[in-house]
Amino acid sequence: MAKKHKAKNVRKKGAGKTRLVKGAAKNPPPQKTMVNINKLLSMEEAIKYVVDLSGEKGLDVFKYLIYHGPMEENLLAKKLRFDKANAIRKFLYKLYSKNLVSYTKKKKGAKAWYTYYWKADPERLVFLLKKEYEDEIKQAKKSIDLNKATDFYICNTCNRRYGLMEALENSFRCSNCNDVLSHLDTSQVVGDKESRIAFLNSKIKHVSELVTIKRR
Ligand SMILES: [Zn+2]
Repeated sequence: MAKKHKAKNVRKKGAGKTRLVKGAAKNPPPQKTMVNINKLLSMEEAIKYVVDLSGEKGLDVFKYLIYHGPMEENLLAKKLRFDKANAIRKFLYKLYSKNLVSYTKKKKGAKAWYTYYWKADPERLVFLLKKEYEDEIKQAKKSIDLNKATDFYICNTCNRRYGLMEALENSFRCSNCNDVLSHLDTSQVVGDKESRIAFLNSKIKHVSELVTIKRR
């Protein structure tokens, strides 16, 4: 394939070449990607994400569509032993709310009802997981900044935390039990958050590697 393409380019040398380059710069060909389904669906977080969104039945629907390809709604309901299409729609809509599935509708005749065909998008799940990790990293970074910038005090009796201003107002005593507050060492908290960020970054790397460019 590549060889053939190269030969074509050589033949188009000259006037055609300019046109070819110009076109390529304007519209880079979309890269087709593929997802390592088995690895994705063996990830605990991936399963949890889908179950939290759409329940165990939603997960069944999602998996079935991944492994069997796009499918007409009534057939899908039958295959998964739902009573009727109505019963499965609830789960499809939950998946659809995060774009984990999409549909196309077709009419089988001028007066016929629309028939819905559903398709799963496992790459979208990779995207959503990455986003979750990225959001948590943002939160952790905020927390690190806060802990580094502010002095915290703690009551060792009831574990209540006080910011510097609040501690000052209370003359460094707990408003709950009147115990003397002690300065809180936040290096432990910061260290924990930093290792959490490292862990989340490794997770992002792992899920990103599940998506590869499709070679034809
Ligand atoms: Zn206290």
